[in-house]
Amino acid sequence: MEPLVGRSSSCLAQLMRDLGQPEYRARQLAAWIYRKRMTDYDAMSDLPADLRRSLAERYVIRSAVSERAAASKDGATKHLVRLADGLAVECVHLPYERRVSVCLSSQVGCPVGCTFCATGMGGFARNLTAGEIVEQFLLMQDLHPNRRITHAVFMGMGEPLLNIDNVVAAAHLLRDEVQVSARNLTISTVGIVPGIRALADADLAVGLALSLHAPNDAIRDRLIPSNRRWPLAEVMAAARAYRRATGRDVTFEYLLLAGHNDSAECARELAALLGDMPGAVNLIPYNPVEGAVAYETPSSARVRAFRAELEAAGRPVTQRARRGRGASGACGQLAGEAAGRRAPKLRASVSSR
Ligand code: SAH
Ligand code: SF4
Repeated sequence: MEPLVGRSSSCLAQLMRDLGQPEYRARQLAAWIYRKRMTDYDAMSDLPADLRRSLAERYVIRSAVSERAAASKDGATKHLVRLADGLAVECVHLPYERRVSVCLSSQVGCPVGCTFCATGMGGFARNLTAGEIVEQFLLMQDLHPNRRITHAVFMGMGEPLLNIDNVVAAAHLLRDEVQVSARNLTISTVGIVPGIRALADADLAVGLALSLHAPNDAIRDRLIPSNRRWPLAEVMAAARAYRRATGRDVTFEYLLLAGHNDSAECARELAALLGDMPGAVNLIPYNPVEGAVAYETPSSARVRAFRAELEAAGRPVTQRARRGRGASGACGQLAGEAAGRRAPKLRASVSSR
């Protein structure tokens, strides 16, 4: 049976019309699905019993379940979310002092194949539906009910802008139905130029994080296969256009790989590439991936020196703590383990809903 989650209120309104019901029932149903996170029709007390019965005969409410979780000492919990067809993605719950964020997957695997990324190494299976993306958020709120989730970042498995229709539909649902402010939604991209341009036109003004990881095409080509199709100059032009269209600063993600992109010269070249475009650089220490090309995490002295060069050029710099990545390693690793690459180490387990 098809799930209801993932349908917009106008789609639910059509469904109500088809069932001979007044349209306001769609708003009631949307509130049960997205705000009260109800997974049982019987509890939908303001809907008539015959409507609940007809819905139950035709639709399930959700389709995914959270199967396993690995908690890390810093408070992050990485979950494995099992989809209706048996495939799985990962999703991370990240509580901070003043906000709670979740890291969502947009695809099962990823077709881009970056050389440092566990997800990319696992190949690509399929796009997630809008419902499967929103379900990750709802599951995280179910499993961590004490604090309201305020932020969502598309930094889990997959390249969101290669699944832009479903990602944009999910972002609209998160904003309009789950009621997360669009200011608190961030899409991370490897630099899919047509996707960045389409996102600028999507009437969402979500945050954009651009995974640069290199200051020039020679280095970037070696790390990110899609750079041959959309080289840095085009990616940067699209990022500038995104900023103009949405009024939002772009964040530049920079993964530091010892000996490949972490020299002081690379830092100066990066500062020059960004030029006068505002936006912070977020430095990410490489998280080792089993079986990957032999990359290494730079020493903290090397990271400090890189950071100092950027700051000397006036560029604001943040540094990603290795939150969540302690739980079961890098991006895509938990789902990779579930597929049988390596036995998982679970420090905590959270049962399915
Ligand atoms: N496809 C998108 C979003 C998912 S990846 C993108 O590439 O931006 C989310 C982030 O995790 C990206 O910045 C990516 O470069 C980073 N990442 C991937 N593998 C990593 C690893 N082994 N260590 C640290 N960060 C990694
Ligand atoms: Fe895909 Fe992003 Fe991983 Fe590259 S870093 S393979 S784009 S998920």
